[in-house]
Formats: sequence, C-alpha cells, structure tokens
Amino acid sequence: MSDCLFCRIVAGEIPANRVTETKQFLAFRDINPQAPTHVLAIPKQHVASLNEADDAMLIGELLLFARDVAAGEGLADDGYRVVLNTNAGAGQTVFHIHAHILGGRAMRWPPG
Ligand code: AMP
Ligand code: ZN
Repeated sequence: MSDCLFCRIVAGEIPANRVTETKQFLAFRDINPQAPTHVLAIPKQHVASLNEADDAMLIGELLLFARDVAAGEGLADDGYRVVLNTNAGAGQTVFHIHAHILGGRAMRWPPG
C-alpha cells in the first residue's frame, strides 16, 4: 500500500534503522523507544492488524522472527516482551501489523 508508512519503509522510500530482514520480514528500531531495546518486526506484506490477519503461517513465522530478533539483541536470557497493539483502544497508531520487541529493563504487569 503506497500510503502505508511501514510499506514505505519496506520499499526503502522512508529511512529506518534496520536491524535485520528475511525474505518475508523486516525488523527496525522504533523511532520513539519505550525501553533500552525497542525493535519493530513486520511482515513485508501489508496486513493492517491482527484483526485482518488470515495467514496462520505468516503470523506464526512473524512471532518466531520476533524471537530471533530478541535473541540477536541479546535479550533471550534476561527476557523481553512482544506486543501487538490491535486497533485504537490498544494504542495502535500504524495500521500495518507490527510486533513490538521490548527489552533491556524490567517490565511491569499489567501493562498501562
Ligand atoms: P503502535 O502504536 O503499536 O501502532 O506502534 C507504532 C510504532 O511505530 C510506535 O511505537 C512509533 O514510535 C513507531 N514509529 C512510527 N513511525 C516510525 C518510523 N518512521 N520509524 C520507526 N518507528 C516508527
Ligand atoms: Zn503496509
């Protein structure tokens, strides 16, 4: 989608601090980090949110990709949080599905 911010990052039209990528997925640093490590993992294919997701393989592999990104950031042992905000009430502001990978500090529960 040409008017989607994250599709434009995938296409290289908007710069991003890229961490890693595969054929299907891209990870880049959040522009407004909420933890010492805050990376976004997205499918290169446009899916607006978890509500619109219908490809179980894609969503499962997104989760494993997020796991691999966290490991690459050195977070596996201490722990990290993977968050998918879905729709406005949960704080979703960019409607291209993305997994937040947060780590490097203690996480509280419940989240705000
Ligand atoms: P959400 O609120 O769950 O939709 O998350 C969207 C995230 O995208 C926020 O944490 C923003 O800080 C982040 N974000 C917005 N624009 C950019 C950008 N150009 N590069 C990297 N991260 C961004
Ligand atoms: Zn998109």
